[in-house]
Amino acid sequence: MLYDCAIIGGGPAGLNAALVLGRARRNVILFDDSRPRNEVTRQTHGFITRDGVSPGEFRQAAYRDLSRYASVLCKPERVVSVNRTSTFRLTTDRGECYVARTVLLASGLREALPSIRHIHEYYGSSLFSCPYCDGWERLDEPLVVISEQPLAYHMARTVRQWSRDLIVCTNGKPALTDDQRQALRRKGVGLYEQPIRCLNGEQGQLKSSLLEDGTELRRTGGFVETAWFQAAPFGEALGCRSNPLGGLAIDSLGRTSVAGVYAAGDTCAIAPSQLIVAAAEGSRAAIGINSDLIHADF
Ligand SMILES: Cc1cc2nc3c(=O)[nH]c(=O)nc-3n(C[C@H](O)[C@H](O)[C@H](O)COP(=O)(O)OP(=O)(O)OC[C@H]3O[C@@H](n4cnc5c(N)ncnc54)[C@H](O)[C@@H]3O)c2cc1C
Repeated sequence: MLYDCAIIGGGPAGLNAALVLGRARRNVILFDDSRPRNEVTRQTHGFITRDGVSPGEFRQAAYRDLSRYASVLCKPERVVSVNRTSTFRLTTDRGECYVARTVLLASGLREALPSIRHIHEYYGSSLFSCPYCDGWERLDEPLVVISEQPLAYHMARTVRQWSRDLIVCTNGKPALTDDQRQALRRKGVGLYEQPIRCLNGEQGQLKSSLLEDGTELRRTGGFVETAWFQAAPFGEALGCRSNPLGGLAIDSLGRTSVAGVYAAGDTCAIAPSQLIVAAAEGSRAAIGINSDLIHADF
């Protein structure tokens, strides 16, 4: 069977694209290997009508919606290669091959946390990456911003909107300029630029950050600057151009620089993204794909 579109990734971007394409009577196959960027969290926030649902509930509701459209097929498989000729040939980890006229890359990003002992035990339960997603739940708590990058200052200024009881730890890295140090101190933000030995707490609840010099900083939550990388290599492998921050470059309808290849969601993010943004981009890319297929066929 020749599919109109093969979607790689069943996060909000891919799922919403599948919905819009299904409703446009397109034959769609959506692949997902169930490793979304927010898999460590218990609740997701900031998506109107589903504020506070778990990532699992979000996906179940999406699959329920898609089950009404017979032309949308969801495959819990990982795509391992995409080859382009006049169509696209996708191979999955089960060795199955599928052919499609277009491909939507919605495979998202993966995150790398700073190398600090025990940090993974708290990420997603009391330590987060986006204050817009999880700041409200930590309102006025004693918080730490952990950032080894030049964005430390920006992150600290932003998080202060949710709590004035704030410190910044740069884990021994030169993340702040003198002007930034002065500005943060003037606002009462504590600065700790020595290496962090480990984070302490229990059952995902952060209690303190222990520095190499023995200083223990009591904190009940915080935000950490992460590094991002593409979850799947297909954009680069197909020759799609990147934007300056490393996401895939797209136009307003999700078209990449390669004909027939579209992208949506975190995979083209140029700033920390959100579920609702990814879903909206999926919808726009679906409209781009459907318009281009109509143009080709009419
Ligand atoms: C800790 C944390 C908390 C967050 N909290 C919130 C929040 O509260 N509110 C909010 O709006 N946003 C939140 N986010 C951000 C949000 O998770 C992302 O912006 C959103 O998931 C991006 O959607 P996406 O569809 O682009 O990618 P994803 O949701 O990451 O989905 C991509 C999917 O593609 C699949 N995939 C990848 N490669 C392949 C392949 N080769 N074959 C098949 N499938 C593949 C993955 O398994 C994954 O399921 C949070 C992020 C993190 C890290």
